[in-house]
Amino acid sequence: MKASIKLFRIAGIDIGVHYSWLFIFVFFWWTLAEGYLPQQHAGWSPAAYWLTAAVTVLLLFVSVLVHELAHSLVARARGMPVSSITLFILGGVSNLEEEPGKPMVEFTMALAGPVTSLLLALIFWGITRVLGTVTEPNYVAAAIAFLAYMNLVLGIFNLLPGFPMDGGRVLRSIIWGSTRSLSKATTIASIIGQVFGWGFIAYGVYLILRVDLFSGLWAAFVGWFLTSAAAASRKEVTYRERLAGVKVRELMNVNILAIAPDTTIQEMVTGIFQKKHDRAVPVCRNEQLIGIATITDVKKVPQEKWAVTPVKEIMTGAQLYTVTPDDSLNTALELITKHDINQVLIKNGDKCAGLLTRADIIRYLQTSQELGIPEKRNTDRQS
Ligand SMILES: [Zn+2]
Repeated sequence: MKASIKLFRIAGIDIGVHYSWLFIFVFFWWTLAEGYLPQQHAGWSPAAYWLTAAVTVLLLFVSVLVHELAHSLVARARGMPVSSITLFILGGVSNLEEEPGKPMVEFTMALAGPVTSLLLALIFWGITRVLGTVTEPNYVAAAIAFLAYMNLVLGIFNLLPGFPMDGGRVLRSIIWGSTRSLSKATTIASIIGQVFGWGFIAYGVYLILRVDLFSGLWAAFVGWFLTSAAAASRKEVTYRERLAGVKVRELMNVNILAIAPDTTIQEMVTGIFQKKHDRAVPVCRNEQLIGIATITDVKKVPQEKWAVTPVKEIMTGAQLYTVTPDDSLNTALELITKHDINQVLIKNGDKCAGLLTRADIIRYLQTSQELGIPEKRNTDRQS
């Protein structure tokens, strides 16, 4: 979820909206102002329809946000840091810094969202009961009734037991808890997620054939999204399980390639980047790791200065992302993904031990898959 606009911060969590939310905002605004509200409440002025619709959509946005905050706050209470929440076209995503390590944590975390939506639905419904006696035009009652309905839909939809929907996460945590196998649980929950996805697509096609083009396309889109998200989660867990059983040591280059800080850029380019096809190299002084130099760093210096500029002037020396030879490949890949970098440095104590790239890990996965090499050991996290 990168293409997003940061809005504000609540309880230390950055709240942002994905650009697709602008589309959903306009879509709901228009549907409410031109369709739903005039159908339900005749005789208002056009301005009243549009204004009530705008406020309602904003409150819908707040409802989705509260749902996501419920996930995040439960996660944090269970000791899992949450850095940000991004609202996008089909709800929201809480960006966890790590996956839940225990079935019970995932269970409560996943359930918190839909339960909150259902509670909101109940509260809004209660308010409409109180407001119900007031005579038309009742703009507030109209908005609240719609919000009660939407929160009910949000709560129920998210409880469908297909991964990666909340209900699917709940199901996964139950299977995970009873079988002790995260990969088995993810596989089952995401297959069900894919089945739901295909169901939505089929329903969408049915609606399109019934000439309800818009609802049909919408249902098909939701289905397509679910199917692909479920398939991606399944793949990712398979990879993670596979990588967790392998140590960095096993992929490490035996002949450590490192350079001294006083090497010139020119020497590094011709001696390493051009010859070995590497894109980065550790910088070490007396075997102590002090930095990393990459092709990106080189590009910032004009070519005529390469022969006179030492590598220490362009290298990254602070904030080095390192792993040890005994870490798993999974740990390395998590670092690479989290910080959006192409490689991590391998450090043995203080000593330079080399470099592990994203490409190394991918190549490892491809080769072992192509040759049908089984996973090294059962690496399911214990509850
Ligand atoms: Zn949720």
